[in-house]
Amino acid sequence: MKYVLGAKCVKCGREYAAVPDLTTCSCGGILDIQYDYAALRRDLSREMLANNPDRSMWRYRPLLPIEEDSAPPPLRVGWSPLYEADRLGAELGLKKLYIKDDGQNPTASLKDRASALAVVKAREAGADTIACSSTGNAASSLAGNAAAAGLRTYIFVPSRAPKGKVAQLRIFGSTVISVDGSYEDTFELSKAAIDKWGWYNRNAAINPYLSEGKKTVTLEIMEQLNWQVPDYIALSVGDGCTIAGAWKGLVDLCEVGLIDKLPKLIAVQAEGCCPLNRAIQTGEPWSPMEENTLADSIAVGVPRNPDKALNAIRASDGVAVNVSDEEILAAMRLLGRTQGVFGEPAGVTGTAGVKKALELGLISPDSTVVSIVTGNGLKDVQNGIKAAGEPMLVKPDMDALLSAFDQAGIRP
Ligand SMILES: *Cc1c(COP(=O)(O)O)cnc(C)c1O
Ligand SMILES: [Zn+2]
Repeated sequence: MKYVLGAKCVKCGREYAAVPDLTTCSCGGILDIQYDYAALRRDLSREMLANNPDRSMWRYRPLLPIEEDSAPPPLRVGWSPLYEADRLGAELGLKKLYIKDDGQNPTASLKDRASALAVVKAREAGADTIACSSTGNAASSLAGNAAAAGLRTYIFVPSRAPKGKVAQLRIFGSTVISVDGSYEDTFELSKAAIDKWGWYNRNAAINPYLSEGKKTVTLEIMEQLNWQVPDYIALSVGDGCTIAGAWKGLVDLCEVGLIDKLPKLIAVQAEGCCPLNRAIQTGEPWSPMEENTLADSIAVGVPRNPDKALNAIRASDGVAVNVSDEEILAAMRLLGRTQGVFGEPAGVTGTAGVKKALELGLISPDSTVVSIVTGNGLKDVQNGIKAAGEPMLVKPDMDALLSAFDQAGIRP
């Protein structure tokens, strides 16, 4: 790892060598991977990246903490499309909006970026089994990426996880433990089992390599924008690892000299479960909340990465905004109808937050905003139908169709 200096605790500053099975600091704090920015500044350029034919997250290898001779894992992760969402932007009254559709990753969520990295590090550690606990997407992405690499998985999910995600786990051949309890209970059980059996740990709030994988989403956004820095990047927040990773990517680019300023983050949580945003809004330390939202991927009452997440939001001078479940369902319809993008509830929560932040006057209509769709709607069809309703049902003849149209007020 030519450019990795080591890992440093975000709480107490203690430093560690970057061994492949790194976990948390002895003080309990989360570690952050440190890079030799001076050397990267010398060796990495916009031109070099432009000439790299690799259309995956591994095009940013110099900025990733993996060994020189580690082969990338088989599934193609990253380089998801960045759409100019002019129709949606106009509808929201926003000068410029981009949608980064990370639901197009191989297992259909942004979590693939972290799981692909976990698979590489597990192999470097000589492990043949990986485990994690997850609200659903970390699980399905780990299961898929590990299956493709020939590794075994033990996956702990709360029993409320949507069927689509559970089906992915089963299809990818994982041993699935569906925990009759909250995400917090699920996390604690996985921790105890990992301690007992010594599996490689893919819990993103414990393994510091995972946010390094997630940061590739903002590396891509900046390259796809031809290094023109937007005013804001909006995304949904649960444990906080994703927003922390997104921020790390931006800081890396700034330190390396590929961008010359930093955007502000828009951190979006559900009203029924917003412990991190509440801490930002009140200035108090965060405290647990109930997990009361249909956006299962961000129904995290006890966030596992609060320090890095709060630091990211504050360091970017960011905006914290909460949205109701109704606003999340409305954003699903809006993204679908105007852009042809189908996101799961937590996947569109960032976009719901952009709309809300505009309505509340927290951001100016003159802004350029990138909204990350973090997961695909096909993972959670039930909430898709909840958002958009059932179709009209007709007998197979024209009279029935005409009267159904009449009833629905449709005039073709
Ligand atoms: C995991 C996840 C998030 C939030 O990421 P955290 O690291 O938990 O904050 C948002 N959206 C989707 C679809 C996710 O799967
Ligand atoms: Zn520490």
